[in-house]
Amino acid sequence: MHVIHTPSEMHNWVYMLKKTGKRVGFVPTMGYLHKGHLELMKFARGHCDVLVLSIFVNPTQFAPGEDYGSYPRDLKRDLELAQWAGVDCLFLPEAADIYPAGYRTFVDVETLSEGLCGAFRPGHFRGVATVVAKLLNIVGPDEAFFGEKDAQQLVVIRRMVSDLQFPVKITGFPTVRESDGLAMSSRNVYLAADERERAVALSRALFHARDRICAGEVNVETVLEEMSAMLTGIDVEYVEVVDPESLERVSRLCGPVLIALAARVGKARLIDNITVDWSHPRPAESDEGSAAEGVPCL
Ligand code: AMP
Repeated sequence: MHVIHTPSEMHNWVYMLKKTGKRVGFVPTMGYLHKGHLELMKFARGHCDVLVLSIFVNPTQFAPGEDYGSYPRDLKRDLELAQWAGVDCLFLPEAADIYPAGYRTFVDVETLSEGLCGAFRPGHFRGVATVVAKLLNIVGPDEAFFGEKDAQQLVVIRRMVSDLQFPVKITGFPTVRESDGLAMSSRNVYLAADERERAVALSRALFHARDRICAGEVNVETVLEEMSAMLTGIDVEYVEVVDPESLERVSRLCGPVLIALAARVGKARLIDNITVDWSHPRPAESDEGSAAEGVPCL
């Protein structure tokens, strides 16, 4: 596995490979790799000839007072895991190479960056869009892979890539979970044992919502109330039911919806989501608000 530190070397390495007809895949991360990252990398590796992984804890997506300084890091272990997952090249830029003195250019994906996590982390998606734009320019992959765990991030990046006409295919990958349902995250390391137990309520509430919608519930408020009851005692930032592409709140459960939430459990800020794709005929209008029993869900 090659390890590259500078943007110019990274760019040249991929350029040479692409000249020989290789298809280049790219997985950007902030490191402290876990099984979710590994599954994402293995999936990506299966879709390209050469896989580039970046590890960069991006300062511009953290607000003052957030965990930039204390974000977990373990480069030695990450190197071993990346090699194991079949990564061909590891890109490890320094912050000063990505944001040199005098840096002034940022990418702002309007509207999509403002709701959900954006409302609680102002500037976060501006930092994310900016660093992903830069990494895509530096690496120049044919395809880049992102986890659906960060659903809003994926929507923002898809929009940016489309709007700015980056010649890259963006592919999402389903959330990898612990056996009890908790979404894997580098920040789970912050959880003390009792907090880890409480954190499972997040995915349980999402699965409950999915099951209720699949059973025919059409009333958003009912679903949100039931989720809130399951999240009692948890410091919830938001729970929302939105359109998976526009991220606008939906008032009625018809068609695919994204149910997304964020909560603070101890020191950790955790996010999770589920997409419920309702593709069946709805119950008659007069049944709205009541569950239609026995309707299958895709
Ligand atoms: P991060 O290092 O947290 O910035 O994540 C790097 C990439 O891995 C992002 O595209 C994430 O969405 C993805 N990712 C993180 N956790 C998971 C997970 N549990 N399942 C699938 N993908 C994930």
